[in-house]
Amino acid sequence: MRILVLSDIHANLTALEAVLEDAGEVDAVWCLGDIIGYGPDPNECVARIQTLPNLTCLLGNHDSAALHRIPIETFNQDARRSIEWMQNVLTRDSYIFLYSLPERVVIDQVTLVHGSPRNPVWEYILDLHNAGQNMEHFDTQICMVGHTHLPIAYLSVNGSRELRWSVPNEGECVEIKSRAILNPGSVGQPRDHDPRASYAIFYPEKNGWEIHRVEYDIRAVQKRIRMADLPMRHALRLIEGW
Ligand code: ZN
Repeated sequence: MRILVLSDIHANLTALEAVLEDAGEVDAVWCLGDIIGYGPDPNECVARIQTLPNLTCLLGNHDSAALHRIPIETFNQDARRSIEWMQNVLTRDSYIFLYSLPERVVIDQVTLVHGSPRNPVWEYILDLHNAGQNMEHFDTQICMVGHTHLPIAYLSVNGSRELRWSVPNEGECVEIKSRAILNPGSVGQPRDHDPRASYAIFYPEKNGWEIHRVEYDIRAVQKRIRMADLPMRHALRLIEGW
């Protein structure tokens, strides 16, 4: 069984389509949230995600902000401008879908959240200390998170409380034998200085985890960001991958 694991699409339909084509046929799709925010294609991405097979989709902080559940003042100025723009353009159908999204889902031995198991929508897992604290907040072997836009794995060492981190090699299938927190990186706004869209394939029978990167037409997305009068910073960062 091949499961496509996506996160942080951020209204970038071109990157999403490139990922779907690159991933090929999959049995299920797990989307870890932030379908919208920053990019120019929120409705298109919400509609496209719903066409994917056996979809499980989580709520991200940008999705939550669009639903007015989070005070907009908690975002920086550029993010705020794009959230306000988004609230104006989102269709009723998009809102209905976003309202339906859960904050936390458990599928067999995997917990899915956007940010962290301790604080599913908001917390960033950015270091070993933080990852270690969060190991206590899920019961399954594996927890998958997004939110930081960085593909990374935090792995328990020999079943102990000690953790190590690793950045999986592109295309290499790693068997996850211990408890772990896994992040597939971001489809629509990578922040590890590699501008290519990032995603993972998960093989549940053997707990296989495989990171993939794929190029997409960044210029086309930048053009749509400009046309929508969204902050130019969101266009510029795509080419740098941050
Ligand atoms: Zn995000």
